[in-house]
Amino acid sequence: MPDTPSPLLCRSCGAPLTRTLVDLGKTPLANSYIRKDDAPERDAQYPLHARVCDTCFLVQVDDVVPPEAIFRDYAYFSSFSDSWVAHAKRYADEATDRLSLTPDSLVAEVASNDGYLLQHFVSRQIPVLGIDPALDAAEAARARGVRTETEFFGRDSATKLREQYGPASLIAANNVLAHVPDINDFVSGFTRLLSEDGVATFEFPHLLNLLQQVQFDTIYHEHFSYLSLYAVEECFRRNGLRVFDVEELLTHGGSLRVWACLEGHPREDEAGLTAVRAKEEAFGMASSATYDGFTTKVEAIRTGLIDFLRQAKAEHKTVAAYGAAAKGNTLLNYCSVTSDDIALAVDLNPAKQDTLLPGSRIPVKAPTALKDLRPDYLLILPWNLKDEISAQTQHIKEWGGQHIVAIPSLTVLP
Ligand SMILES: [Zn+2]
Repeated sequence: MPDTPSPLLCRSCGAPLTRTLVDLGKTPLANSYIRKDDAPERDAQYPLHARVCDTCFLVQVDDVVPPEAIFRDYAYFSSFSDSWVAHAKRYADEATDRLSLTPDSLVAEVASNDGYLLQHFVSRQIPVLGIDPALDAAEAARARGVRTETEFFGRDSATKLREQYGPASLIAANNVLAHVPDINDFVSGFTRLLSEDGVATFEFPHLLNLLQQVQFDTIYHEHFSYLSLYAVEECFRRNGLRVFDVEELLTHGGSLRVWACLEGHPREDEAGLTAVRAKEEAFGMASSATYDGFTTKVEAIRTGLIDFLRQAKAEHKTVAAYGAAAKGNTLLNYCSVTSDDIALAVDLNPAKQDTLLPGSRIPVKAPTALKDLRPDYLLILPWNLKDEISAQTQHIKEWGGQHIVAIPSLTVLP
């Protein structure tokens, strides 16, 4: 047994990782909601340490949790979010036109969840193939007519799927690239499954926004990588894919949608690619110094929230939280918040109601519980939805309640 741990290596390029972006200490898995009959170790804590690679500039967290522990019990169904379903419909319209998809095409989606996206291709008679390791979500997808294989996607499964279903004209991968531990194996799966002139699209939160707006609460164990266009192009090049276009989206606090083809295909680069490359270069995305100082900004947010909660307690004010989201759990646990500080959290997703948030052990209820509690402050945890959520919960003003967000700084909303 070596008495010193082996050096950590970048999950993309293999270079040694020596630079810290932020160390968030030990926290439980962000999606390990606790139900009545769960064992006490359900929300066991693991180190949450984000580092940046000095060679390919992939930001990543240490790989400490087996993927089976994370994905097979994932209580999130995409169809619970109306705005996400509408986003998926627009994507299906755009991709069908742009790639001239027909009933002879095959559209695949990796991490197809409950079929929220592929259903829009099914309704156009375009054959689909969903790929998702989550058993419940795959079952829900099949129930709405979306053919789905229960698999972890990678080089081997892609080869097998191609033999079984043929090559894909389009493969969509929304909010999954950041969630895979072996990013090279995952990306090379696209090279295997795509047809010669096929296109793959990837959506992921843009690291640029995480850094600029101190969105440190999007860091959690299930989210292995934090992606810039720069790091993605480095990884794709190594695995036979080439980015030819990029769109900037408003989802998840600012995301990129990257369009990629096989390396040898003579597709022209589009203006979107040039624009985002220039934006990242101006920001210094490929410069180590850009990543220094992030920890100080994160600590300032922690101080802001802790001071606010201490003051509220001194004034005998009640605080509730809205949205039992993964990002909320990172914030609450990093700030050591408990049910002593925040009485309850509410969430629309029935799968999360009547659970306890991991770590903080704050009880989760349906949003109707706000009427009984009459909180003085409602902390909106998914700050990316703050307008939508404050509009939906305007009734807290009846008893003088106010909305607050903690990121990028503690703010009482007007
Ligand atoms: Zn690297």
